[in-house]
Amino acid sequence: MNNCLFCKIIAGDIPSTKVYEDESVLAFRDIAPMAPTHILVIPKTHIGSVAEISAENSAVVAHIFEVIPQIAKAEGLENGYRVVSNCGDDAGQSVHHLHFHILGGKKLSLEMA
Ligand code: AMP
Repeated sequence: MNNCLFCKIIAGDIPSTKVYEDESVLAFRDIAPMAPTHILVIPKTHIGSVAEISAENSAVVAHIFEVIPQIAKAEGLENGYRVVSNCGDDAGQSVHHLHFHILGGKKLSLEMA
């Protein structure tokens, strides 16, 4: 996608602090961390949001959920962490490329809405 910020990060046109990469997934540190550890995990193929996950593209989403525990372990999040995906305007999604936030490194608030 031409104008997608995260596609530009995948292409290397915009720098990021990578913590994990393979053929289908990239993970990098959030530029405005909301917790001591705040990582974004994204598919390299453009999927707009959770609302666009389908039988045709869900294999990469399953793979993301295999990668997330590996990243959490590497980051020392043995005390726990939160995985969040904001979907659409009401959820405050600001980048329209599917991403999963990994938040941890402190006791997180239970407030969800
Ligand atoms: P969301 O609001 O759920 O769509 O999350 C988008 C996230 O992308 C926010 O937490 C932003 O801080 C983060 N973000 C925006 N631009 C960048 C960037 N260039 N590098 C890393 N994270 C970014």
